[in-house]
Amino acid sequence: MIASAPAGEIRLDNVTVAYDRHPAVHHVSGRFTTGSLTAIVGPNGAGKSTLLKAIVGQLPVADGSIERGPLKPRDIAFLPQQASLDRAYPISVLEVVLLGHWQRVGAFGHIGRDGIRAAREALSAVGLEGFEQRPLATLSIGQAQRALFARVLVQDARVILLDEPFNALDARTVADLLALLQRWHGEKRTVIAVLHDFDLVRQHFPEALYLARRLIAWGRIDEVLTPENQLAARRMAESWDDTAPFCDTGHNHDSHSGHHDHTGHHGHAA
Ligand code: ADP
Ligand code: MG
Repeated sequence: MIASAPAGEIRLDNVTVAYDRHPAVHHVSGRFTTGSLTAIVGPNGAGKSTLLKAIVGQLPVADGSIERGPLKPRDIAFLPQQASLDRAYPISVLEVVLLGHWQRVGAFGHIGRDGIRAAREALSAVGLEGFEQRPLATLSIGQAQRALFARVLVQDARVILLDEPFNALDARTVADLLALLQRWHGEKRTVIAVLHDFDLVRQHFPEALYLARRLIAWGRIDEVLTPENQLAARRMAESWDDTAPFCDTGHNHDSHSGHHDHTGHHGHAA
């Protein structure tokens, strides 16, 4: 990869991410193009959350590289799996949303009147008008997730990563938050979401990345969500061994011969 990634594009080149030298994601290559809307799917333990954290920069890559072009950390918004905010923390809904300004303003910066107006507008966009002063702890799971989406809205990031954003939510909330995803897509932001519901993915996502520690497929939704790929993912999941040694590209010294073959890639994997 000689030319650097254009703004909003994220390129993965042979990315391996490991915990304590045990790889959780192996040799993933491909790119999220500017303005793409991609679902990351795969079995439990497939490394989906790990990959998102590596893309955000919360986890280092053990091998390969992630190219973010001109993107700064503040240009990437990240909503972790199961709203890692402690919901019992004594903080108001408005304050939760104002945290979205933090990366731009800094810990000692001043949010100001415009920042507060943006937060109120975001709350109204997620259907939480009038909830500004409510303690976070008093919200339902669905309302709390709406508040976190409002925080992502005020962050106004070029790239948005969401880890299982619709888990345990009622249908109405899912529909409302999906509409926000579509809005971000319409605004040419790069949106990446880990999801489990294949029907929902088929209906709303043009592209998918199918992960089972290694890449099963990455590309157009109809090419990725195939019965063959589902079977391949299930086979991979059955062979996972969390104590497997660190694997170097090209030196296949473990017994899982499937780990290193890259056949079955589709779409724009590099
Ligand atoms: P997914 O999100 O697809 O369910 P994860 O990325 O959470 O998968 O996990 C992938 C693998 O990495 C699993 O085997 C999991 O146990 C392991 N793992 C995740 N987080 C850690 C951690 N902090 N330390 C050690 N191993 C971890
Ligand atoms: Mg996960």
